[in-house]
Amino acid sequence: MRIGHGFDAHRFATGAALVLGGVRIDHPQGMEAHSDGDVVIHALCDALLGAAGLGDIGQHFPDADPQYRGIDSRILLRAVMAKIRGRQLQLSNADITIVAQSPRLAPYRSRMTQVLAEDIGVDTSRLNIKATTTEGMGFTGRNEGIAVHAVVLLSE
Ligand code: MG
Repeated sequence: MRIGHGFDAHRFATGAALVLGGVRIDHPQGMEAHSDGDVVIHALCDALLGAAGLGDIGQHFPDADPQYRGIDSRILLRAVMAKIRGRQLQLSNADITIVAQSPRLAPYRSRMTQVLAEDIGVDTSRLNIKATTTEGMGFTGRNEGIAVHAVVLLSE
């Protein structure tokens, strides 16, 4: 078995759509990013790549490359999974923690789980998505942005 950890954070920006875990979230602000700013998928991709010993998302999909501008992060997740499968690895489970003071994410959690399970090619029971605030402390607490931690277990 191989374990991987991923972390990502993005700043809120007005005029951008908020997409988390492949799901459009109803919120007045989105994420400032080169891609669609899906911080959940970015952390998950980094955890998957880390577990497989394949580096990080920035190495595979560089920020400076114009072909990734505004890209749907689900495309990146599917590309990462192709690399994982290429290494004869499969996802045992993933646990994701979204750190955000707002918006409230509970109403979107099951849809996010479905979308991610579909892109990874696993049953939804292998994915767990949690959300927490930081009780007003730090950059997430001040609503400056959203951070996400992801831990995955791959099996050979
Ligand atoms: Mg990112």
